[in-house]
Amino acid sequence: MESLAHAGHWRRIEDPGETVLLWSPGLCDIAGFERQEWVSPARAVSGIPAEDRPVFDSACRLGDGSDMEYRWRRPDGEVRWMRSRVRHSLSRDGMSVQMGVVQDVTEEHRAAEQLREQLLFIQRIASRIPGFIYQYRLHADGSTASVQYISEAVRNFLGVSPADVTRDHGLLLKHVVPEDAPQLRRSALVSVRRMVPWQCEYRVTMPDGSVRWHMTSAVPHKEPDGTVLSHGFTMDITDRKRAEQEIERLAFYDALTGLPNRRLLLDRLQRSIAAGQRTKSQGALLFIDLDNFKDLNDTLGHDMGDQLLSQVAARLVGCVRETDTVSRFGGDEFVVMLENLSTDLSQAAAQAEVVADKLLTSLNQPFELDGGQHYSTPSIGITLFGEQRLTVDELLKRADLAMYQAKAAGRNTQRFFDPDMQAAVNARSNLEADLRQGLAREEIHVHYQPVVDHNGKLVGAEALARWRHPQRGMISPADFIPLAEQTGLILPLGQTVLHTACSQLAQWAHNPATAHLSLSVNVSARQFRQPGFAAQVLGTLKACQADPRKLKLELTESLLLGDIEDTIERMEQLKKEGVGFALDDFGTGYSSLSYLKRLPLDQVKIDQSFVRDVLSDPNDAAIVRTILALAKSLDLEVVAEGVETAGQLGFLRLHGCEGFQGYLFGRPVPIEEMDAFVFPDE
Ligand code: C2E
Ligand code: CA
Ligand code: CA
Repeated sequence: MESLAHAGHWRRIEDPGETVLLWSPGLCDIAGFERQEWVSPARAVSGIPAEDRPVFDSACRLGDGSDMEYRWRRPDGEVRWMRSRVRHSLSRDGMSVQMGVVQDVTEEHRAAEQLREQLLFIQRIASRIPGFIYQYRLHADGSTASVQYISEAVRNFLGVSPADVTRDHGLLLKHVVPEDAPQLRRSALVSVRRMVPWQCEYRVTMPDGSVRWHMTSAVPHKEPDGTVLSHGFTMDITDRKRAEQEIERLAFYDALTGLPNRRLLLDRLQRSIAAGQRTKSQGALLFIDLDNFKDLNDTLGHDMGDQLLSQVAARLVGCVRETDTVSRFGGDEFVVMLENLSTDLSQAAAQAEVVADKLLTSLNQPFELDGGQHYSTPSIGITLFGEQRLTVDELLKRADLAMYQAKAAGRNTQRFFDPDMQAAVNARSNLEADLRQGLAREEIHVHYQPVVDHNGKLVGAEALARWRHPQRGMISPADFIPLAEQTGLILPLGQTVLHTACSQLAQWAHNPATAHLSLSVNVSARQFRQPGFAAQVLGTLKACQADPRKLKLELTESLLLGDIEDTIERMEQLKKEGVGFALDDFGTGYSSLSYLKRLPLDQVKIDQSFVRDVLSDPNDAAIVRTILALAKSLDLEVVAEGVETAGQLGFLRLHGCEGFQGYLFGRPVPIEEMDAFVFPDE
């Protein structure tokens, strides 16, 4: 019924002599007339403004039923838009009839007008905002997108034309810096999946090669056909990003040295403490204060002081790993934070000490200040963190206190906060110095422990290092081998043992009673991995004129944690020349069967911890039996270590073991005593 109010019709019948014009009530209503059936021709066009009359008149003349539109001023002054259609026909009695349908389309016009205005408004805005707007369509599964609209401004922002982009939507992504593209795609996809607005900041490469930051933001809208239409805009945020970075630099970095400042250090320390609780690894704080810096500053001036501080900063950075933090704490104070040290406290202390030593050595080198040489020394306080739950403040206080102890101890040195740790570190560094000297003074000796077969017949021996310290007497390898490994002294030490063993083999070769004996030499992972290891072993064998087939190298399972291919290659190289290999302390490490199979081994040595309780602990007994069975299936010899009793020997023999080593047959002894085994009757 509503349409009635907006539409009406008329009829005009031409009769020679008179014209009748009939208006429907609806037409009267929209024209703003009283309802009346008859309307005079003049009145019927009275509301049409002069400029619209030609449209109306020609439509009436043609009468072909096509749409025309014109305005109509109602008697009350209101102007409305009319859409009309006129048709001519002839009545049955031969009279010419014009029929018109009229519709009030004012609202439609208004809406269109509004739309035009809005579009103009958007275009004006779009040309003003520092960005471009777009509309794109995505399928619900996120596949194939098409850009439906993109504003002109995209030319200025990416150097591409809107037409090109709508033709190929990939064009936009091509400008995105590759590392940022996945994130951009992901945000767009998540937005479609959850139908939520999205926003993303990313970098683009401009046609001239420069990189700028863009930010895009879009709102998805589900269409009836299941596709998703997203409207969004993109703007250039390069200036903002630069400002942010600048603010960050000012807030978290020291202007003079470019190092993280106190605030950033505290933040990282806090995080590191939290992470340490999870990983259980230790960290260390090194508090560094330059000795007598104030004097330099006062006598040579602040400019020189600044130069020194910058150079100190550079040297500190050069001494640590990239993942460690070197910060300027204030004035002439620096704090270095080491992370991911060993989980073992004393090992971690040793690692921190090594770094502190490095820092000391580096800062003790002269500085070039304005052409002149200048010396500066630091005092370093060290504290570890990770073990106890200490606050950031507490930790810094400890490092600071330790630094004052270093000052009190005469400057240009380092001190640990924990006295026990200090003592341990001191003892260790004394031991290291002693060992270095001991090697030079030939205090390292080799003892030999017999290895026998299932009949108790001697088949060879294991060479074991001994340190005869002038004051402290005999030091066990358990105490100095780990130290030698950490400090690299294992390289000369291992070479000494190897050389001694090879000379011994050469001597044995001269005597028919001993010519069949073989010697086993322990090789640390660090030694085995050093470049040229194989060549060194072969060189030593040759120099001593020893038979490679009588030499067996004992490797530990820790070697398997490294580059296994490299390990195999090195073993093969020696194996080719006849050198044999044993896997030491078998059962305690990480070996998996698959690894074992790949290594060109000749022998495994069952660790003494299993042999010790083989009669009392069913678990150990089971392990030993399994190792024996496994070795047999892999065609490996087995030597059981630490055999002390006849009972143990009995069990081992029962389960097929054919090689034995232990106090039951002989302790490690100097070579002179070894002869007692070799020539028992003499
Ligand atoms: P390892 O290779 O497992 O050597 C066997 C250890 O067991 C030796 O200790 C030996 O004295 C001890 N032992 C032998 N029979 C028995 C027994 O019946 N009962 C008991 N309780 N112990 C027995 P040692 O000589 O103190 O050597 C300790 C470790 O030091 C060796 O363990 C080896 O890993 C390392 N080592 C010794 N010499 C060298 C060397 O020249 N180079 C390297 N890299 N490591 C060495
Ligand atoms: Ca061994
Ligand atoms: Ca062993």
